[in-house]
Amino acid sequence: MSVQPGHTPGTILIVDDTPDNLHLLSRMLNRRGYEVRAVHSGEMALATIEQASPDLVLLDVCMPGMDGYEVCLSLKANPQTKDIPVIFISALDEVLDKLRAFDVGAVDYITKPFRIPEVMARVTIHLTLRRLQLQLKEQNELLKQEVRDRLAAEAALQAANQELQRLANLDGLTQVANRRRFDEYLEQEWRRLNREQSPLSLILCDVDFFKSYNDTYGHQAGDDCLRSIAHVLQTAATRPADVVARYGGEEFAIILPNTALEGAMQVAAEIQAGVKQLQIVHQDSQISPYVTLSLGVAMIIPRLGVSPAALIAAADQALYRAKANGRDRIVEEQIVAENKLSQA
Ligand code: GH3
Ligand code: MG
Ligand code: MG
Repeated sequence: MSVQPGHTPGTILIVDDTPDNLHLLSRMLNRRGYEVRAVHSGEMALATIEQASPDLVLLDVCMPGMDGYEVCLSLKANPQTKDIPVIFISALDEVLDKLRAFDVGAVDYITKPFRIPEVMARVTIHLTLRRLQLQLKEQNELLKQEVRDRLAAEAALQAANQELQRLANLDGLTQVANRRRFDEYLEQEWRRLNREQSPLSLILCDVDFFKSYNDTYGHQAGDDCLRSIAHVLQTAATRPADVVARYGGEEFAIILPNTALEGAMQVAAEIQAGVKQLQIVHQDSQISPYVTLSLGVAMIIPRLGVSPAALIAAADQALYRAKANGRDRIVEEQIVAENKLSQA
């Protein structure tokens, strides 16, 4: 058995009450490069191990006071020392003695009189096993950490994706849903309410004389005005399933699932009143001292063969009539037959 120069292969504690044994073993192990500590009682062994853990213990069984079994049991009972390999060295050569040694936690058993090459071989093999065990444990810890890191990274990625998704659905100026989200959500609710055979209402609203508002107060003021109106819409559409969207420049849409026409008209009235309450001065409006909205409201129970476009067309038709009839008003449109609009 050779030892690389400069490499200490491990620390070994020898426990034996026979001085000759201690000296012989110490010398042989020292010669092979091991760092050796030697004590002659079980009590001293425990005290020494408490100071610093050796990599391996060679333990005599028969000693006055604490015997080897007791020392081993005590080591195995302590979480700090339970993994230190213990090899018993004993003159007892009965099978029962050996079994008892393994019972109390020994990794190996050498009978006296021992032969040095055998002791060396067993010491080497158990130190190697112990080292591999520690390596595995370390690698296992690293793997566990890697899994934890990966899970954390995945959670962060998921959060980032969610935020990205949210931003992709939002109108930058007003923070309500954008047109993309509007189309997607309308289609989704259309299919759901078709299955449920429940009403779906849509409000389209458009700021009155907004071009002249921009011309008079500037584009920045126009933007502020749109933000304030969007806030009123959000406040009026209170149900979790309601979605307010920016449909075009100064035109907004509110999708109201499971909402019949009366309910939609109520929301529209709230919106109209809310915008009025804002009292955004608009001196060039031809109908009011303040900014006003025109609103078109339509309702349908989605059915096969009809597309969401029919609902949009109806609401748009209603909005057109609200404009034509003098603005600052709400007009409703009822869809009675497939693709056929009837005026309320
Ligand atoms: P009507 O009462 O018939 O709706 O008249 P209008 O002037 O509101 O309608 P028109 O379609 O002629 O003009 C819409 C204006 O809205 C023109 C455009 O500059 C303005 N607009 C559209 N999007 C924005 C925006 O994001 N910010 C601002 N400040 N203005 C916008
Ligand atoms: Mg307008
Ligand atoms: Mg417009």
